[in-house]
Amino acid sequence: MNFHVLRLDHRRVRDARITTHVCLTARAFGASKVILSGDEDKKIIGNIRDVVKRWGGNFEIEYIKNWDGFIEDWKKDGGEVIHLTMYGEAVQEVTTKIHESSNDKLIIVGGSRVPSKVYQEADWNVSITNQPHSEVAALSIFLHTLFEGKEYEIDFENSELKVIPTAHGKQVQKRKKTL
Ligand code: SAM
Repeated sequence: MNFHVLRLDHRRVRDARITTHVCLTARAFGASKVILSGDEDKKIIGNIRDVVKRWGGNFEIEYIKNWDGFIEDWKKDGGEVIHLTMYGEAVQEVTTKIHESSNDKLIIVGGSRVPSKVYQEADWNVSITNQPHSEVAALSIFLHTLFEGKEYEIDFENSELKVIPTAHGKQVQKRKKTL
């Protein structure tokens, strides 16, 4: 089962940092791809591809203009849609049900205002608390709850850099990538 993240309504100047964090969080916590919508932003796409090159794994990123059609196609292909929103059902109540199907999952996180169509199209509208916070926090807690901590053991293979965890200081192993 693949977990892809659709980030809606990216605004190039205002959201550069938070959208980058959405992408980094998606990768670190076990999603396999981010799809950006809103303003096209080649810089973010380049930066994330560079992170993948240095830190490993097969994470992908792409831009789409029409998120509406993308969601429809995703569903036509048998994928399911999870929309993270403070108004949805509680994450701790729905993850067992989400686990029941092995279909690919599209996890949608919003920006400034999420169109009502997204709420209607989603198979699951899921809240991580019913308090307003951020797409980065929502995505990380959602993936962590769904993967039950197994994301801590992901092997980001074929990396140039690998952190050796230490109690104090920094240890980073540098290695040559295999082709
Ligand atoms: N008013 C927006 C809405 O419709 O949810 C809030 C915008 S918030 C800054 C940006 C995104 O963070 C939301 O679209 C949602 O994906 C996520 N988010 C914020 N709080 C959340 C929560 N408590 N549970 C789930 N997702 C949340």
